Amino acid sequence: MDIKKVDLEDKDLIEDYLDIPISEIREVHNRLVFSYDAYLKDYGVKKLWRDELPDDCSDEEFISLLDAKELQLIFLYKHLNCLVHKDLVSAFVRKYIKDAALDQQVRHLGSQYFWYVLNKGAKIPNADMIVPSGYNYLVSIEMPNPKAVAEALKRTGRLAARNFTELKLAYANKCATCGIEEGKKDPRNELIVSLQQGHMTPRKPLTLENTIPQCQYCNQTYKDYFQFNEFGRVIAVNNPLILLKSPKDVQDEMITVLLKERENQ
Ligand SMILES: [Zn+2]
Repeated sequence: MDIKKVDLEDKDLIEDYLDIPISEIREVHNRLVFSYDAYLKDYGVKKLWRDELPDDCSDEEFISLLDAKELQLIFLYKHLNCLVHKDLVSAFVRKYIKDAALDQQVRHLGSQYFWYVLNKGAKIPNADMIVPSGYNYLVSIEMPNPKAVAEALKRTGRLAARNFTELKLAYANKCATCGIEEGKKDPRNELIVSLQQGHMTPRKPLTLENTIPQCQYCNQTYKDYFQFNEFGRVIAVNNPLILLKSPKDVQDEMITVLLKERENQ
């Protein structure tokens, strides 16, 4: 897929870029409202307009009622599936909101408002391309940002997950035990983190209820020695051979503890 760049370097085109008829802006607004209600609101994507936006007002009145964040999104929608430079988005907003900040923090559309806007470092779906610094890329207005899906799953907890992919989302794609994120480079073993299905209780089958996502490092370090809770914390010994790694005095204490416990039973 060839991805077009829309930025300030195309000096001749800047005016064209910024010149979107208000009738078209209104149309895009209606499209955003429809998509939001139909596909996005259940995921916690944030609305960018006021509820009481009148339908029968003049174009001038309409545009004056739009929020800066919505103007940003409208501009990105006009250049759907293009890399759009943030300064151009800010220039568009400032056309209508004169005192708007020079830097409009467009990246917040994705990270805080959960629209499917990608920015620096994100991989573009279906393309071998990473969004360069300073650019934004709107994937779709009909899908929430994957971060919103992760947050929604976090809210409903791990019980809502139907497969390992969803279970990982419930953990924000992080190792339950040490918190390292999938896809990052792990400095402890120099591997790219790929989350694995770790047992909570190693003696039980690896069903989804008995699974936590763990990075290679944790999975290999803890082996089958321990039982974990759903938060990835050690709660009990599973394989007594780990006791042999303990110092002699600790082993003696364990024997004492165990014998005492048995006597009381
Ligand atoms: Zn880990």
